[in-house]
Amino acid sequence: MTKAIRITEKVTPGVLRERNTRLVLQTVLIGDGSMSRADISRSTGLARAVVSEIVESLMAQHLVVEEVGTPSGRGKPAKPLRVDTDRQCLLMADLRPTEVVAGVVGLDGVIGSTGRVDLPPNPGVDDVIRVLDSFLRQLAADDGRAVLAAGVAVPAMLSPEQGIVESIQLRWTDVDLAGPLQEALGYDVVLVNDATAVAMSELSHQSQAGGSVIVLHIAGGIGSAIILDGRVHLGERQRAGEVGHIDVGVSDRRCKCGRTGCLETVANLPAILGDASVEDLDAVSSPGEDPALRALAERVDHAGRSLGALVCVQAAILDIPDVVIDGPVRRAGARLLDAIEQELARRLPAVDVRRPRFSTMADQSKMHGAAAAAMLHELGVLWHSSPDRA
Ligand SMILES: [Zn+2]
Repeated sequence: MTKAIRITEKVTPGVLRERNTRLVLQTVLIGDGSMSRADISRSTGLARAVVSEIVESLMAQHLVVEEVGTPSGRGKPAKPLRVDTDRQCLLMADLRPTEVVAGVVGLDGVIGSTGRVDLPPNPGVDDVIRVLDSFLRQLAADDGRAVLAAGVAVPAMLSPEQGIVESIQLRWTDVDLAGPLQEALGYDVVLVNDATAVAMSELSHQSQAGGSVIVLHIAGGIGSAIILDGRVHLGERQRAGEVGHIDVGVSDRRCKCGRTGCLETVANLPAILGDASVEDLDAVSSPGEDPALRALAERVDHAGRSLGALVCVQAAILDIPDVVIDGPVRRAGARLLDAIEQELARRLPAVDVRRPRFSTMADQSKMHGAAAAAMLHELGVLWHSSPDRA
């Protein structure tokens, strides 16, 4: 996902300039309105003249603004730089099987207005294009800023060329969603797998670059994404994290994929809920004597143990103790985290066990991560919450 510069790549002046531009913009973003040109030169090691030339170019593209400095002591006042949030914005959307949740986000990562619209039952790709086209146009018109790009989180396996290879939840195979939308809207539309989107959101909440996280997104399906040393690991064919149909030895149930024992048969949302509703999950931490709630609580425990069995393998191979859970199952709260944590404690040395946590942005994680992916795609930079902003 990140535009890595390969060692074998010839470092032409163009490549070097692009790399330096990303470095300057990333430094302005992290500085959050505190860095002057001189500060950026000191922080990046780039010559002052190079920084100034890049800053002028970023200002001309309405990506960066230079504030009027306040005089302090002798000499010219330093003029702090910040990301230009007045002229351009990003749009973000979270495509779910029955609805679309979408919103506007500034280039500084601050979320503006959001909304949701229903999809028709069993939507085809044309239905979704029509809904997204009008919804995104409406959001942009209300916001008033120019749209740099849109990011859309989809419950689907994607090809490196952004085609949707398969979405079991939407019952789609080999469809093009991004192409027609881009053509209609006139800006880039970046698709991201939903678990990857959650990972991108977590990545943009790290106070320092370079961390590693295991993400599990649990809804109709189960997807996983791995952040390794500050990058989302997508794999050779962008299919890393397709874990829902792995047999982790905890189930003997038949799966809709035709095999037996898949993780999804006990740990996806329908398997956990059975006859219960998502709202019932709110009560599983203290189910009392209600037989239906007690059965639901047991299914949550079983799901948690199954997820723990998967995560311990991921954590042990990759040495990643930070585990993030996202999806409607977060309503099961501490009970689900307890079950995962206990399974990890049973299977791993104590030193490797850290309590799992829910995603930072909760219900907005996927669309926020989709926006982060669009930002990375367009400008090659990521948001990072600085300690005083977090
Ligand atoms: Zn299966």
